[in-house]
Amino acid sequence: MHFFDDKENLSINERQHRINLQLSEMVRLGYHKSTRFRRMLDELKLDPAAIKTLRDFVKLPVISRSSLIEFEMNEPPFGGFHNPDAEVDRIFTSPGPIYEPHLSENDPLWARAYFAAGIRKGDVVLNAFSYHMVAAGLTFHGGLRRIGATVIPSGTSSSQHQVQLIRDMGVNAYTGTPSFLMSIIKKAEEMGHDFKKDFRLKRACFAAEPLEPLLRKTFEEEYAIDTYQMYGATEVGDVAFECREKKGWHICEEVLVEIIDPETGKQVHPGDNGEVVVTRFNNIFFLFRFGTGDLSRIINTPCPCGRTSFRLDGIAGRIGDAVKVRGMFITPNQLKKIQEKFHNAKFQVVVSRSTHEDILTLKVDMRQDSADTSVFEREVKEYFKEICTVRVDHMVFLEPGILEGDEKPIIDQRTWSNKVGH
Ligand SMILES: [Zn+2]
Repeated sequence: MHFFDDKENLSINERQHRINLQLSEMVRLGYHKSTRFRRMLDELKLDPAAIKTLRDFVKLPVISRSSLIEFEMNEPPFGGFHNPDAEVDRIFTSPGPIYEPHLSENDPLWARAYFAAGIRKGDVVLNAFSYHMVAAGLTFHGGLRRIGATVIPSGTSSSQHQVQLIRDMGVNAYTGTPSFLMSIIKKAEEMGHDFKKDFRLKRACFAAEPLEPLLRKTFEEEYAIDTYQMYGATEVGDVAFECREKKGWHICEEVLVEIIDPETGKQVHPGDNGEVVVTRFNNIFFLFRFGTGDLSRIINTPCPCGRTSFRLDGIAGRIGDAVKVRGMFITPNQLKKIQEKFHNAKFQVVVSRSTHEDILTLKVDMRQDSADTSVFEREVKEYFKEICTVRVDHMVFLEPGILEGDEKPIIDQRTWSNKVGH
């Protein structure tokens, strides 16, 4: 069996059909059960029956984390988004505070991700996510149980205790943050173990923290741990996961993902970067169009693993850190990625404006002299376009050492009439 279920390899049209049905059903139920959603549609003079496809979604507002906090503060505990008739088995909190009624036990939350990472019945998994009040520990636990794995609920125990559990229980997989796994490995080494030889831990599924490419390389090459990334938000559950190809994250079958321009609220063209906006199909919490604040883009080409869902191209950064150039977002994270490829140079982006056009200048501080900069320039420009989807207009080579400090990676020199106040 290659897939968690047969939803994962439906044709694009079949999936679209299923999604449209679920969407209409959730809108209909939400209008009847959620006081907030009903008020929202009535104020917008929207007939719930008129919201049938993803395209109709643009008529609804995007709800950010901060507006959700405000809604819940004004109307505790759930801001009127919930179904008062639904049986809720537990309520989680996340910083804000935000209160979240737990989704139905029938929802395969995180199970697709663990399945795609190769975790199966008989595996013994250390779950180092916190179980205390927040959704993480218990929902990841549920996903692992759903595919039959045995879970050690170690939560936030000390790294020394985690080492002991890995050793004593023959743990062969880990789920938690990448930084915590690294500190567990370091602790094991401090205790005199050879992590690769003495332990059976060969697989790790990470969430809640970005997995830096260098750290991934260390896990995989030095410690022979196969690593996978999972992506979600506590308000909407799991959103996307990595398959064995490790080229993008498959969007879960239980969510609807839109990529929108946070300034206009419109859906961007496929392949362009924008805010990840998520709606989770469920009948308990009617949070339509939750704005995660994360930036990404959709990969809509087929994945060799056979799953037909579109993929998210990782997370390019957070909206607040992004600078928009000719309609596209550039983030410090993307520059970091470019930096990793060309590590003999340092980069800085300067965005300026000449009459009506944005100009993107890439400043380069070469750490060593290179006889021929034209090949380097072409390669950097090509990679920059691939990562940021924006063309470099000018490349300026600086004196070596000029960008050695902690200069800002992106400088926006454009002035806007409404900002300068004339
Ligand atoms: Zn795949």
